[in-house]
Amino acid sequence: MDHVAQDARIIDLGFELMVHADDAGFLEKPDLEMVLSKWFGRAFNPLKVSRRLKEGGVIDLDGLVLEVLHTPGHTPGGICLYEPESKSLFTGDTVFSMGVGRTDLPGGDSDLLSKSLTKLLRFSESRGVEKIYPGHGPDGDLDDLVEMCGLYV
Ligand SMILES: [Zn+2]
Repeated sequence: MDHVAQDARIIDLGFELMVHADDAGFLEKPDLEMVLSKWFGRAFNPLKVSRRLKEGGVIDLDGLVLEVLHTPGHTPGGICLYEPESKSLFTGDTVFSMGVGRTDLPGGDSDLLSKSLTKLLRFSESRGVEKIYPGHGPDGDLDDLVEMCGLYV
């Protein structure tokens, strides 16, 4: 809910809603547990997902390329987006500069999150990630990513 509550308004403004295939169904036919509707005490109406993202997919925003990494654990369809020009990794709720995503909420899976963090470590080393921009909290750098992933894998 903290990431999707305003999606209907954003769609109304003409933007596309892109969601990993493993999470898209929770929004199109709302799963009120998965979107934390009851937890936040808010209604949630069905959304139209315009594109289902998958591992290895690319989002091209007029030349600004974002590579899709599937990083389940916080949710089944958790993703990170990598922008290669600036070597920036948008980590959503997978990893923060001071922690990792919760796995005690509906859809959470600590084993999957651990595997995703291992994957992010390998990816970051091979691609030279320099900055991370989490879904919550301050941005960070590769040292933060390595430290946080290292605590949970
Ligand atoms: Zn969040």
